[in-house]
Amino acid sequence: MTRPIVAEISKSALQANYARAKTLAPKSKALAVIKANGYGHGVERVAAALAEKGVDGFALVELEYALKLRENRHEQPILLIEGLFEPAELMIARQFRLSVVVHCEDQLAMLESSRGKSPIDVYLKFNTGMNRLGFTPADAKQAIARAEALMADKQIGTLTLMTHFAQADELDVGVDEQYVRFSAICQGTKHPRSMSNSAALFRYRSTHVDVVRPGIMLYGASPFADQAAQSLHIKPAMRVTSQLIAIQHLKPGDAVGYGAVFRAEKPTVVGVVACGYADGYPRHAPTGTPILVEGKRTRTIGRVAMDMLFADVTGIPTAHVGSPVELWGDHIPVDEVAASAGTIGYELLCAIAPRVTMRDVA
Ligand SMILES: *Cc1c(COP(=O)(O)O)cnc(C)c1O
Repeated sequence: MTRPIVAEISKSALQANYARAKTLAPKSKALAVIKANGYGHGVERVAAALAEKGVDGFALVELEYALKLRENRHEQPILLIEGLFEPAELMIARQFRLSVVVHCEDQLAMLESSRGKSPIDVYLKFNTGMNRLGFTPADAKQAIARAEALMADKQIGTLTLMTHFAQADELDVGVDEQYVRFSAICQGTKHPRSMSNSAALFRYRSTHVDVVRPGIMLYGASPFADQAAQSLHIKPAMRVTSQLIAIQHLKPGDAVGYGAVFRAEKPTVVGVVACGYADGYPRHAPTGTPILVEGKRTRTIGRVAMDMLFADVTGIPTAHVGSPVELWGDHIPVDEVAASAGTIGYELLCAIAPRVTMRDVA
């Protein structure tokens, strides 16, 4: 028998979540964000699932995966959201009709200093407060003028103006300041615009405009700390399951695992689960992190090891070697495991390790 840990990826969940994004912003094009190997779900699998239902396009960071999609005959727009890293990539982008973000002087100059036969679609990015990527509001006018000159010269095809929100997921802050700055930048131009990530897509209709960029919601995890995925009507696309591979009986005073960080106060039955931090389970998840054994919700105990972790099965008399375990998925939201470990669902999904077998399910 092979090691029992598996990540099931649900095609219908991916498709339903994309449909949900389209319902939220019916007039906008929705570029499915599939960076980081489709947030850990397998970029080719995710692209194929969404293409089947007529996805508007894709957005990612990795040029090699963009080319993989073209190889797989996905002809939709593909946006490189960090843009190009060196001039040599410009030819490739033209050849394979990849759209590019242009967020800085170097990237704009790169376009100006090379002439090609086929125009390239550009997303000109503005820094409206996140201070990560983008032209500042002070430089915006000139950047737009230079991009328009490249359009007139048939070097740029379509020009879309874009920005990215830092706090769309925080109710008390939201998007207002950045929205106002971006609107000022766009004023007087007729170029299409793009602002929304998943959080803004859910909460700020005014940000939908021409192109939305849903990421995390496609995978059925919540962009919000204060709202669960289920109440957003999205479904988990990844379900990580394994099995118990041993049972231990602790007497009061007995400890379990590295560092003996859990010590039993009363007789305790421990299920040893074949899943550890080398599978992508967060080592920082403390005692009390939710886990499902035999269909029953219980808690982890002790320290997560490289290949194993411990579940408290004291209240689950049917637990035995071979009992099914869900680490996260339909019953245990990835966001709950993440919150317990002091992180967000995004990080756990992206960190699922290559050694975990992926299985496609409906
Ligand atoms: C990652 C990313 C997104 C998607 O964000 P989610 O919070 O996952 O929806 C959208 N736009 C840009 C520029 C990104 O880098």
